[in-house]
Amino acid sequence: MKTPKKIYLDNHATTPLDPRVLQAMLPYFKERFGNAASRTHAFGHDAEDAVTSGRQAVASLIGAEAREIVFTSGATESNNLAIKGVAEAYKEKGNHIVTVVTEHKSVLDPCKRLERAGLRVTYLPVQRDGLLDLSDLKNAITAKTILISVMFANNEIGVLQPIAAIGRIAKAKGVLFHCDAAQALGKVPLDVKRLGVDLLSMTAHKIYGPKGVGALYVRKDKNPVRLIPLLDGGGHEVGMRSGTLNVPGIVGFGKACDICRKEMKTEIKRLAKMRDRLREGIMNGLEGCRRINGSLKYRLPNNLNVIFEGVQAEQLMKMLPEFALSSGSACLSTSPQASHVLKAIGLSENEAWCSIRFGLGRFNTRVEVAETIKRLVSSVKHLKAHP
Ligand SMILES: *Cc1c(COP(=O)(O)O)cnc(C)c1O
Repeated sequence: MKTPKKIYLDNHATTPLDPRVLQAMLPYFKERFGNAASRTHAFGHDAEDAVTSGRQAVASLIGAEAREIVFTSGATESNNLAIKGVAEAYKEKGNHIVTVVTEHKSVLDPCKRLERAGLRVTYLPVQRDGLLDLSDLKNAITAKTILISVMFANNEIGVLQPIAAIGRIAKAKGVLFHCDAAQALGKVPLDVKRLGVDLLSMTAHKIYGPKGVGALYVRKDKNPVRLIPLLDGGGHEVGMRSGTLNVPGIVGFGKACDICRKEMKTEIKRLAKMRDRLREGIMNGLEGCRRINGSLKYRLPNNLNVIFEGVQAEQLMKMLPEFALSSGSACLSTSPQASHVLKAIGLSENEAWCSIRFGLGRFNTRVEVAETIKRLVSSVKHLKAHP
């Protein structure tokens, strides 16, 4: 018997590189190896031109200007730069940050570090559907609040927060608004100016680009956002992020953004259709023992998160070795803690352990979805019958 084909359904953890992105990057590993900061020869100019194009492509995908894009190593660094950079730059104005319990660790942990340094952080709860209650947000803001940090789309349950409404509240209160858009970029339409976002974190490897490159949008119109950098050095990225630029990575990130911009509309429809088939297949095949986590209305088109009641996700995944899925604690599968996101929407520890995240992506097919439903339904039934 031949080994069954692997099926990748963990596109929230990372995405495969699009072959078109790889093609665009290759020359920059070979003959076009210049340092974008070298001003004295053509190798440098060529690299600088490539960075300029990449910067424009990233900016175009989010309705920003090229000069508002700071390249980083990914969304973790962008989140750290935004939060710590604002805390340091605005410490005369205030010492209070408002965020949400369901944020990614790369937002929560910088906030915790700032708390240890004496800042105050409010962690807002979410409702059963995963959404923030806007009146909680309004009530949390004080005269000392300098930053609101709310993610666009959740990496576990795919829930989309009301970003435009948060932007309006932030503006009315004169507070900066940072948004971690690692999961939303390229998956939903996103215009920083229309949304009233001041700082936006992005990463290439969640949109079929390379790992280790990302960006922070920093609003630079009237009254521009100030940031104290995390890294001091050569003064790259207008002083906001020193260090020789990752030219091949930036070229790949730019190409990945271009593809998203051109294909997003059709891709959203295709992904949502596959996701809905998956959902219906699970719901119909396993009546009475499955529940969806998080809002279905305000949700990424490629995400599904399901509790299989009475079936441990760990056991279920063991029965499905050819499928790449993820459970409970999504990012740190080594850590024995139940997901903080699932607990925040009211699940018990046990329900969290019985939950599975499905992340569809550009290279999944309808055949794979059908295969997933078939194998999943029979495995859950088997585990229920032989616990
Ligand atoms: C993946 C992810 C990150 C971290 O991005 P890296 O580029 O891997 O550092 C941050 N926030 C969210 C919501 C994510 O999904």
